[in-house]
Amino acid sequence: MSSHQSILTETNMRTIGLIGGMSWESSVEYYRIINQGVRARLGPLRSAPLLLYSVDFGPVEQAQHAGRWHDASAILCDAARRLQAGGAEAIVLCTNTMHLLAGDITAAVPLPFLHIADPVARTARQQGLRTVGLLGTAFTMRQPFLRALLEAQALAVLVPPEEEQDALHDIIYAELCAGIVRAASRDVYRRAIDALAARGAQAVILGCTEISLLLQQEHSALPLLDSTLLHAQAAIDFILDGEG
Ligand code: GLU
Repeated sequence: MSSHQSILTETNMRTIGLIGGMSWESSVEYYRIINQGVRARLGPLRSAPLLLYSVDFGPVEQAQHAGRWHDASAILCDAARRLQAGGAEAIVLCTNTMHLLAGDITAAVPLPFLHIADPVARTARQQGLRTVGLLGTAFTMRQPFLRALLEAQALAVLVPPEEEQDALHDIIYAELCAGIVRAASRDVYRRAIDALAARGAQAVILGCTEISLLLQQEHSALPLLDSTLLHAQAAIDFILDGEG
């Protein structure tokens, strides 16, 4: 047996495939959270077996805003196939917005797909929440692809009014995905959360994987459900399934 093979057989962990780069600012968070979780569970030198396929966000973002979802789909399906060929045993798509194309990816690659809405809905249910606010890109706040899955779990989902959605959306693309964190933009998010609280939201879903780079629990009047953290924790559970 080669040393390469013996290394492969020494871990009982399952290999996960991350589709990242949307933006890489948040993919870094997935990589950190997943590895920290494996370390906490298995020991200081243990780390997660994973593959990361990080796309060039430029063409993806252009396709999104031009409504060319077919082009974006081709990029993501290609990434998923590469991860499968590399040995990934499940796919984690590190962005809420692109879950709009979750059906294309699951059709393209016959691997388990760890949908970002599942751990978010599960956590909301465990916390006994009935009404939640949802913040994210305009795609995520306006279209049903994520909201409908939360509503199917008996959650009432509130989103900000359209003008406010535009401001939140622009902060994500012009600042957070570009690595820019501004206090003034944090205030825009805080005000949106306050308004959701006034309308009856009991908690707020950070339904964009970059928002937690800007806004943490101490900044928020409502409890936060961070999709990045919850999705990465679901990835840890998958990786460690079968480990002691
Ligand atoms: N990462 C973001 C999200 O979770 C937005 C960037 C993208 O369009 O993928 O929705």
